Amino acid sequence: MYQHLSSQGTSIDLPIGKVVCVGRNFVDHIEELNNDIPTEALLFHKPTTSLCHLKQPLRIPTGQGEVHNELEVAILMGKQLSNAAESDVISAIWGVGLALDLTLRDVQTDLKAKGLPWEKAKSFDNSCPVSCFIPIQDCAELSNIEFQLQVNQQIRQQGNSSHMIRNIKSLLAEISNSFTLLPGDIVLTGTPKGVGPLCHNDRLKVTMATHIDIETYVQ
Ligand code: ZN
Repeated sequence: MYQHLSSQGTSIDLPIGKVVCVGRNFVDHIEELNNDIPTEALLFHKPTTSLCHLKQPLRIPTGQGEVHNELEVAILMGKQLSNAAESDVISAIWGVGLALDLTLRDVQTDLKAKGLPWEKAKSFDNSCPVSCFIPIQDCAELSNIEFQLQVNQQIRQQGNSSHMIRNIKSLLAEISNSFTLLPGDIVLTGTPKGVGPLCHNDRLKVTMATHIDIETYVQ
């Protein structure tokens, strides 16, 4: 059963909530998939059944086409946020971690072409492996978070939150004006370029500056 974990490996006393994801928040990734830059945040959800721990072996669906990595900065909410201004956001954040927004890309491409919602491509069981969370007071600037994904010792994704179209504070404020974020909810803040297929036995290494360094593999 999934629980939010701190960097000490202890469980964080917050409920397990929804996962809110933003699509198309990095220009380099928008270009690699030939999408348009959205005028409003493009939001979708993953259910609680999508959550699992990044340090556990990754279980990906089979027989449904390619499953792509999308490494993203993950924000764990500590307090409720509704109709917020940017200045309200920091005090509502418990901490910062990393997550994979695992995506059935062929399924998503088909759904997009038909104008249908993305849940079948984005919200399957174990589609959201997350790291431990670093308390917000121990993080340096939210607007300068370096993160990286290596697959089989090759750098596949390298991002910095400074390259987000919507920075973390404005993104959370914008989300909270569409619906309430509750304590224990997680927000995924978008992926940089470098999405690609994951295969069985791929070895992954996920890092965030000096805070997070996790190795895992695809089962
Ligand atoms: Zn994503």
